[in-house]
Amino acid sequence: MQFADFAARANDIEAEPADLAKTALLRDLFATAGEDLPVVARFVQGRVFPAWQSSTLDIGPNLCYEAIARAAGQNVTAADVEERLAELGEIGAVAASFDFGGQRGLAAFGAGGQSDLTVAGVDDELRQLAAAEGSGSQDRKLDTLFGLFNRCSAAEARYLARLVLSEMRIGVGEGTVRDAVAEAFLVDAEDAAAIRDDEAETEVEEAARDRRDAAIATVERALQVSNDYGRVAVVARDEGRDGLDAVELDVGRPVQAMLAQAGTVTDALDEWGEAAVETKFDGARVQVHYGSGEAGNAVEEEEVSLFSRNMEDVTDALPEVVEFVEAEIDQPVILDGEVVAVDDAGAPLPFQEILRRFRRKHDVEQMREEITVELRAFDCLHAAGDDLLTQPVTERHARLAELLGHTEAVSELLLSDDAEEIEHYEADALEAGHEGIMLKNPVSPYSPGNRGKNWLKRKPDVETLDLVVTGAEWGEGRRAKFLGTFLLSARVEDADGDDEFRTIGKVATGITDEKLAELTELLEPDIVSQSGTEVDLRPTTVFEVGYEEIQVSPTYSSGYALRFPRFVEVREDKTPETADSLTRVERLAEEQ
Ligand code: AMP
Repeated sequence: MQFADFAARANDIEAEPADLAKTALLRDLFATAGEDLPVVARFVQGRVFPAWQSSTLDIGPNLCYEAIARAAGQNVTAADVEERLAELGEIGAVAASFDFGGQRGLAAFGAGGQSDLTVAGVDDELRQLAAAEGSGSQDRKLDTLFGLFNRCSAAEARYLARLVLSEMRIGVGEGTVRDAVAEAFLVDAEDAAAIRDDEAETEVEEAARDRRDAAIATVERALQVSNDYGRVAVVARDEGRDGLDAVELDVGRPVQAMLAQAGTVTDALDEWGEAAVETKFDGARVQVHYGSGEAGNAVEEEEVSLFSRNMEDVTDALPEVVEFVEAEIDQPVILDGEVVAVDDAGAPLPFQEILRRFRRKHDVEQMREEITVELRAFDCLHAAGDDLLTQPVTERHARLAELLGHTEAVSELLLSDDAEEIEHYEADALEAGHEGIMLKNPVSPYSPGNRGKNWLKRKPDVETLDLVVTGAEWGEGRRAKFLGTFLLSARVEDADGDDEFRTIGKVATGITDEKLAELTELLEPDIVSQSGTEVDLRPTTVFEVGYEEIQVSPTYSSGYALRFPRFVEVREDKTPETADSLTRVERLAEEQ
């Protein structure tokens, strides 16, 4: 395909405002792209390399301005290009505004006034340019780029400039490419015609839509697994749905990370009945690939690659993780996890510390002396030839535990339908210095790139409340000699202006044994009466308490109840008179 043809089609797509019509134009472009299909499928998104590859063109704006200026003629400088950019707002429009052809005379173009650039030729030259390294490489890049612009018509220059700076701006996102691939190669003409019909929805149309949606889902899965629009387009065309279904994970090629939403324990249990609970590590996301590209049970080529959340290769920055994986794992794997910075005792350090190591390119060994990093893995996407994406969380975690359960790298997974048990797990995680917990739908698959509802990061507490402790219960078993559960009250002013305390909930979580002993010592002198294990306390002590939600509830005398209250600390600086009032509770409840 001539690059001029590509530019003209890109121009049409850019000019088309309606999404469906845009997709249709893209579909036609793909259907006619022939052997250029993989390149075209990347170019329309402003990519030369597939998303999983960490190669970049590494062309800064200045180099691009310089190349445009050179191609535009002797009187034009990079500063002129920048000035025009300020005026026109966009590099494509700037490039199109210069007369590059004029440089070489119209004879430079063939009979139709077209340049000789082809899509494959541009791709080739840009790839060579990306590979240029070492001394003088910037000059060579500039020469190549100048050569390309110099052969461009205005229409071509618009899209070349944008491609070079990775901003195509034709309104084609990942979803458009996905749909267009499906429509070009997987949806038959009859179905396509039925769907395009604007008539009221008929059964025929509905069935056609279902088939199209299924085709789109197939393309989507293959994209998630391969992260390569070019390859997926070609497989869709040449091998159809079966071919796409057979696209598998490749060790060494990163997968888009599955993402989380914020949510509460209530959300999780209401939705799933039980939750898989994991420690939320406070580090930087890392995907570990180990082994050869070949699936198999033996590691043929012992190679570790580490990728960031954006699929950037960060292997060289984290030699300890590489060494750890090499030492502990003996089969090809793809793991998902975090790298955390730890102190000498292995306890997690603040997030800022890992940032000093994570993408470091220089002085890695020196920084390694200063900050120790360790792997914390929470998912296993592939092991010993098995793709595990569609396996449930519990199964993937079990595979992970088989691989690394004997190390510190894997935390225990709690499967629970009991909010209190989850709160305890969270308290332990916080106590150990972690960020909190993740709640996962135990039966859910791994959905690359997806911020769905199957992974919830437990919402941090809303504003805490300072509440008065007006009662308590003695603990059981090991904790029998401690007060274990504390009754909390909010302050209300009665008619005489005196304080009265109305109960609002009980807190038992977030408290270590050591702290319980301390609290017992603090509160025991305030016991005014006891019945069974329950005691009434003189209101003297104020607890700061976190919670997920304030609910209207007849259980307590305030008329409200705290959902999942969590002990934060004793407010030694506060007296019951300065504790939070019921009015504040009401206001917070309203604001929720
Ligand atoms: P956030 O960055 O606040 O959106 O929280 C989600 C992030 O937490 C994920 O992208 C991971 O990088 C990180 N994370 C830490 N521990 C886990 C875990 N056990 N499961 C999933 N993600 C985790």
